[in-house]
Amino acid sequence: MTTLKDIKAGETVVVEKVGGSGALRQHFLDMGVIPGTELTLVKFAPMGDPMELRLHGYELTLRLADAEQIEVSERPHSTQAEVKKSSVVKKGDKRQTAHPGLGEGGKFHPKGSGDPLPEGTTLKLALVGNQNSGKTTLFNRLTGSKQHVGNFPGVTVDRKDGVIKGHPEAVITDLPGIYSMSPYTSEEIVSRSFVLDEKPHAIINIVDVTNIERNLYLTVQLLEMDIPMVVALNMMDELTANGGGIDVNEMEARLGVPVVPISAAKNEGIEELVSHALHVAYYQEKPVRQDICDRSHNGGAVHRCLHGIAHLIDDHAESAGLPIRFAASKVAEGDEPVITQLGLDHNEEETIEHIVSQLESERGLDRSAAIADMRFSFIFRVCAAAVTKPHESREHIRSRRIDRVLTGKYTAIPLFIVIMLLISFLSFNVIGAFLQDLIETGVGAMTELVDEALTNADVNEVIHGLIVGGLFEGVGSVLSFLPVIVTLFFFLSILEDSGYIARVAFFMDKMLRKIGLSGRSIVPLLIGFGCSVPAVMATRTMPSERDRKMTILLTPFMSCSAKMPIYAFFVDAFFPGIGWLIYIGLYLFGVLVGILAACLYKKTLFKGEAVPFVMELPNYRMPGVGNVAQLLWEKAKDFLQRAFSVILIASLAVWFLQSFDLGMRLTSDAGNSILARAAGLIAPVMAPIGLGDWRLVVSLVSGFMAKESVVSTIEILYTEGIGSALTTLSALSFLVFSLIYTPCVAAIASIKRELGRKWAVGVVFWQCAVAWLAAFLVHLAGVLLGAA
Ligand code: GDP
Ligand code: MG
Repeated sequence: MTTLKDIKAGETVVVEKVGGSGALRQHFLDMGVIPGTELTLVKFAPMGDPMELRLHGYELTLRLADAEQIEVSERPHSTQAEVKKSSVVKKGDKRQTAHPGLGEGGKFHPKGSGDPLPEGTTLKLALVGNQNSGKTTLFNRLTGSKQHVGNFPGVTVDRKDGVIKGHPEAVITDLPGIYSMSPYTSEEIVSRSFVLDEKPHAIINIVDVTNIERNLYLTVQLLEMDIPMVVALNMMDELTANGGGIDVNEMEARLGVPVVPISAAKNEGIEELVSHALHVAYYQEKPVRQDICDRSHNGGAVHRCLHGIAHLIDDHAESAGLPIRFAASKVAEGDEPVITQLGLDHNEEETIEHIVSQLESERGLDRSAAIADMRFSFIFRVCAAAVTKPHESREHIRSRRIDRVLTGKYTAIPLFIVIMLLISFLSFNVIGAFLQDLIETGVGAMTELVDEALTNADVNEVIHGLIVGGLFEGVGSVLSFLPVIVTLFFFLSILEDSGYIARVAFFMDKMLRKIGLSGRSIVPLLIGFGCSVPAVMATRTMPSERDRKMTILLTPFMSCSAKMPIYAFFVDAFFPGIGWLIYIGLYLFGVLVGILAACLYKKTLFKGEAVPFVMELPNYRMPGVGNVAQLLWEKAKDFLQRAFSVILIASLAVWFLQSFDLGMRLTSDAGNSILARAAGLIAPVMAPIGLGDWRLVVSLVSGFMAKESVVSTIEILYTEGIGSALTTLSALSFLVFSLIYTPCVAAIASIKRELGRKWAVGVVFWQCAVAWLAAFLVHLAGVLLGAA
């Protein structure tokens, strides 16, 4: 018996049997790995594990340990492979031109204009589709909103609502991508519950036509939901550019719902789509067919099984509020939550078991494989009749070429390191630094001007101090870091939008597994270099709770961009000339401590097995200029908003508290101020790491609100400049401490949202403790080396 693990790169085999159990196995089946499927082993990751597979025209990652569960054979024997092959040959040339252009076709409407919903109903539409099918792009088109688009699985991790442009009566919800109605990760549950529980008036099912078989797998399950639906065939531009085509009318006839070809990216066919979607929603035109099992197919075993079950559970499904056809296939698949929800009695359960074992023996497949097989057979028949396969797309050829280098055996990791170095060099030294100088000069000139004006106007001393000392010194010092941060985000978004991060996950998986994580963790961790808040959110795409928790706990070790100002400020004062070294050193130190922490977590909090790593590798795509520009704008806006809210308030508070003593008298000696007294209580704890100065303590505390505040606070408190006030060793110790100590309030809030209050509070104290220890070691080493 051969398993997938035994085959060589470049070989094509046919799946015989899918082993394993539970949600993972279902996930395999849902991704199209079912008996009879042809698989090609594209390559192994540089470290030999995981592998990259090609099936149904897309790429998938799989670990060797999981590949072992899949039995394969060499001869292509299955009916599916044959249907698929013959269809391509037979229909190939004839239909070359027979498809309508974008936005055409789709005249299909069984109910015409009878029976509308009551006047004034707000139409709720749901946007459902696979990951990377273009949902968010379409959502932005439909609503004119500006959600983030990305090219790796799991950019949309939560639902987003928006009103359709020009149709105030219709609200559409962008949902996380799903491959099937059997949820596998926590974000997928969001999508399934939305469709099941919120009962939208209509579903817009977005289908990536460059990957149509796998995408239609979700479509046929959505048909079972008994909700009006429109299929949007997206990425038509890519398909037609490569000689493919779709007979839309044929597909409509077979699916029983309106089908509209569109290109979300090029904004074609969108209006047509909207009008069909609103029509089916308004007139509640449910799918004409929900029943895709065929009596004549494979002896009709699945057909009889599903209909048998449907009759048995009819009343239960109705009282449980589940669509009957959906409930029947879930019961046939053996989906426990649905079976429980139906509340079947003992006899009924037994009857169902009989029906199912009849199915299994007739088909020679187990229950879930038999159902998945039935669905895929239907899809292959639809595609055979309606789809002209493109020749290998330019995008795909390009992707393969790029991949040969970027995920090549000897090139992948060196290139990754080079790319990361290049990004930091460009952000910190070249682009960022240049723009930063420019802004600094501007802010400096402004400060002087205002200072002079206030002196001339003889303004009250307190107000003068507040404006110059608090506002300009504080907020102004932070503003100058905007360019560095925006540049950093620019590169991160290019990496993400191009599809590279998915590759990094692929070739880093083995290494990450050693410290108890999975390849999937790389996505949140890399985002963490930008900001911990979206990083923590991004962990929702991870199928294993254990990996997810652990990844969340590790994001604080990835130095976020808001800490950049701190580093830059200290580099200016203490390490001129070797700034670059300090930046890289700090980033790497953070990662190193993170790795140590991961090893610790793995041994204590999170024992247990690594979960499988099954992820789609999307084609490389040119990042959209609009998308990137818009992301940068959002980040800049966000930063400015923070500068003028949290950081401004913190600056003013710090200025105020350091200007008054305990008796609320204006004091010229900040050492007597309220702030000094309060911070003096914590200072002794910080003394052993060389940070006993109360002003440093205050700045770190203010950094809890927003990391940039650390700099503004120091700027306010050290009127004489920091260079002369600290030793170089203390400065280094300070840098190390700020690298690791508690994340800011916003990050803690998002950790609380994901893991709960206890964990969030734990993170605050734990990070401070680790930071203290790390700074202590650095300080100690410095003292021993005589650098004090
Ligand atoms: P989601 O994961 O389903 O939300 O997908 P996104 O909207 O984030 O898009 C995934 C990728 O597909 C992005 O790189 C988009 O630029 C790209 N994309 C979306 N629609 C189209 C289209 O109509 N044509 C082409 N060629 N690319 C598209
Ligand atoms: Mg999205």
